[in-house]
Amino acid sequence: METVAIVGGGFSGTAAAVNLARLGRRPLRVAVVNRGHPPGRGVAYGTRRPEHLLNVAARNMSALPDHPNHFVDWLRTRAEYADVPDPALRETFLPRRVYGDYLRALAMGYFAPVDPRPVRVDVVEDEAVDVAPVGAGGRVHLAGGNTVTADRVLLATGNRPPGPLPSAAEPFAHRAYHPDPWGDWADRLPDPGEDVVLLGTGLTAVDVFLTLAAAGWRGTVHAVSRNGLLPLSHFRGVEYPDFPPPDPERHCGLLRARGANPAIAVDRLRPHTQRIWQAFSAEEKREFCSRYAGRWNVTRHRVPEAVHARVAEAVAAGTFRVVTGRVCGLADAGGRVRVTVEADGGARTAVEGGLVVNCTGPEARFSASDSPLFRNLLARGLARADALDMGLEVDGDFAVVGRDGRRSGFLYAIGPLLRGTLWETTAVPELRGQAMRVAQTILGDREARLASASADVIEYCI
Ligand SMILES: Cc1cc2nc3c(=O)[nH]c(=O)nc-3n(C[C@H](O)[C@H](O)[C@H](O)COP(=O)(O)OP(=O)(O)OC[C@H]3O[C@@H](n4cnc5c(N)ncnc54)[C@H](O)[C@@H]3O)c2cc1C
Repeated sequence: METVAIVGGGFSGTAAAVNLARLGRRPLRVAVVNRGHPPGRGVAYGTRRPEHLLNVAARNMSALPDHPNHFVDWLRTRAEYADVPDPALRETFLPRRVYGDYLRALAMGYFAPVDPRPVRVDVVEDEAVDVAPVGAGGRVHLAGGNTVTADRVLLATGNRPPGPLPSAAEPFAHRAYHPDPWGDWADRLPDPGEDVVLLGTGLTAVDVFLTLAAAGWRGTVHAVSRNGLLPLSHFRGVEYPDFPPPDPERHCGLLRARGANPAIAVDRLRPHTQRIWQAFSAEEKREFCSRYAGRWNVTRHRVPEAVHARVAEAVAAGTFRVVTGRVCGLADAGGRVRVTVEADGGARTAVEGGLVVNCTGPEARFSASDSPLFRNLLARGLARADALDMGLEVDGDFAVVGRDGRRSGFLYAIGPLLRGTLWETTAVPELRGQAMRVAQTILGDREARLASASADVIEYCI
């Protein structure tokens, strides 16, 4: 039977499988190979912690681009949300674990259907370590020794795990140091009066802070990053239709003069961001990354107002300290870890913690990935890194580009792997469109692909 193998069962892989199952009209087997995080939930929605909230309002979290109310309608099936007035429910930032429940429920309807369907989806719990070409398709090799032979292979491996600290010659090991913020550090907390050092000041650091606050933390949290920028807060949008601007600086000035948040300019750019990024030269992309990406990220990927208020309160009370500078060393300090930080001018300071969590985000250089799958794909020449070495290079319809510059006939990729190609490719509003379009490409459904062009519009409603 015709087979599609999907590597990765987080949001992207699950949504692609659901789209194959709901749009497919001919017999097809879909094998979702997933390991490392719970299938259907992935990294982001695998959290069990109630304090970890979505950073996108419920109204914009449908997994299906052609059914914009799908998530809100699903919430209505749950007793605790059944009576919440519609305007309030749509603007709510729900716990991420509830969103994980939604994805599991959606998958269950298609992966284990009550009635027979032409498309059958199986989840294979194993790690994909290689893909070898076989005929016009590929064979996915699994760590457990089995293989999945498929006509098409879709890579949806998502967010890469955090890499080693750029300054570290070799990985630092200490019982108070946790290199993976999604690991089990919360089960092994030291005394709640201890100081904590977070390496990073972004969304992950905020998640860790919320978990510490929920555990009644009394020590000071020191959060270290080069730019010292914390995520900004969401706010209710204002009408601002005249976009894109010929002159963004002027628009920011106008917004400030009206007392409105200039982040509106970043939000209104969202439908154009991928196009603008693709029109940049490699040099311009590099310049954007080194000079503006930090500010872009805190403005574009904001936190709910209530979360922002919690952090701001702790900053005002001195229990959350932002330390600006480059982490240039970790060392044992008698059961604690000493973190040495170098400021821009070269001055060095140190902060110590009984708990140190690496919240710096994924390994920056794709080609340095220690994933066996990507090492093998690169070595075989089936894939190549994009010009900025942020992820894989893909063609317009998600076909992976090989070392020889030619598009693959069977290998596709979606999700955060496309960061260097598309820049904004991490949040559900972008990923759901990719998951549907790649399913349509794989199914070869040209008419459905054209019809879906109109569905893209909702991808960008903030
Ligand atoms: C903590 C966090 C919170 C977020 N919150 C939001 C939010 O509120 N709203 C929003 O829109 N976006 C949010 N995001 C963005 C998030 O990236 C996307 O929403 C989405 O979860 C990405 O899904 P994915 O499937 O592409 O990747 P992932 O969730 O990373 O899933 C990839 C899966 O593939 C598996 N895998 C990887 N390699 C292999 C292999 N070789 N073999 C087998 N399996 C493999 C992984 O273990 C994982 O299960 C958040 C991200 C994070 C990290």
